[in-house]
Order: sequence, then structure tokens, then C-alpha cells
Amino acid sequence: MMKTVSVFDLLEEEHECPHCRSRLTLCHAPPIHVGDGLGWGSEYLFVCLNNECRLFVNGWKNIEDNYGHVGSYRYMKLPDSNESYNMMVAGKDAFTGCIVDPEAIRKADKRYQKEKEAVARLDSCVEENDLDPVLYLLLDDHVSLAVKKRAVALLKGLNDLACIEPLRNHNFRDSYLEQEINLAISAIMAAHYVKECPYCAELIKARAKLCKHCGKELA
Ligand SMILES: [Zn+2]
Ligand SMILES: [Zn+2]
Repeated sequence: MMKTVSVFDLLEEEHECPHCRSRLTLCHAPPIHVGDGLGWGSEYLFVCLNNECRLFVNGWKNIEDNYGHVGSYRYMKLPDSNESYNMMVAGKDAFTGCIVDPEAIRKADKRYQKEKEAVARLDSCVEENDLDPVLYLLLDDHVSLAVKKRAVALLKGLNDLACIEPLRNHNFRDSYLEQEINLAISAIMAAHYVKECPYCAELIKARAKLCKHCGKELA
């Protein structure tokens, strides 16, 4: 999926529209519908979004005359290639939702770097009593299920009561994951001779007959 040229490099590149000389805008390639062929072969496209562009201005009449419907053309160039196209668009807003937002890309990249760091720490986290990477990976909804399954398998070895509160407060959408987390929490509580008060959810001694937090009597 990742191309050799990063989106950061593409954002630096300057390409000119041959029809209007304005700088092309980096856009996410729009989703391809089944039947449209092989797609663009690229996640990104450089597009001329100048509404005064000759190609775009003249395109309306051209399409009306040739196809009998409303539309025009935008000049478009594929990154890393000499291929360019005049792409048919239904209106002037066709690409405005696809413009690459450098800030959003930077944020996503930062998040991904953080995830990579956390994954790298998994190997040694049990011997170092390092709960943080496991919690981070389990609680971040962007992390893949495969990585979360690796993280959840380490909970019992970490045997840290501090994991219970944040995990209990998180809504896990995957039922397998939720079940594994519940099993790990039960094992950790048993290893520490504690249980959760059924009334106030605070951790108390497994032998307690009375909750020291809420005062309720326990069966
Ligand atoms: Zn142009
Ligand atoms: Zn209680």
C-alpha cells in the first residue's frame, strides 16, 4: 500500500497545468467504482482546481455538445509518471473534498509513529513491567485488531492492577478482544487477591464482606 514516494515529498512537488499555468493541487484519488477499470494505480493525483482554467471553462460546452449532459474537465496528472488526463467532472466541487490536508496527514503520521514505537516496546514490556505500550495499543481505536490481540496476550504476564480502570472505561467494539480483556482482568485480580465491588466497582480484598469504599454488604 505504501508507495516509495511519501505524501510529504508529493506535497513539496510543484506541477503546472499546461492549460492555465497554475499550480496543480495534490488530491486523494477518488474511490473507483466497480466497472471503471483498474483505477488510478496511485493514492494521490495532482489536479488543476483553477475555475478559470481554459480546459475547465471550455469543457462545459464541449461535453454538452458531445455527450448532451452537464459536466466539464479537470486537468490531472499522476505522481511519479508522465501520464496526464482530462478528467470528466460533474461540477466545480468534484475534487474539493479530496484535497490533501497537510495538517491531517502530519497528525496521522505522528499517530502511526507512536504506534510503531509502542509495538517495538511490546517485546520487552513484561520483563520491564512496562504497561504503557500495551495500554496505548489497546485503547487507541486506530490500532489494528491484529496488534491489539498481541497486546492483550501480554496483560496477564504484566499482572498490573493499574490496567483495570482504563480498560474497564473503554468500549471495545470487538467481542473477542473484550472477552480476552475480561479474562485477563479476572486473572490479574485473582493473582492479587482482590475483586471488584459489584456496587461501586472499586477494587477490594477478595475476602471482604463489606466494601470499604461504598460500605455496602457483599454476599
Ligand atoms: Zn488548469
Ligand atoms: Zn463498593
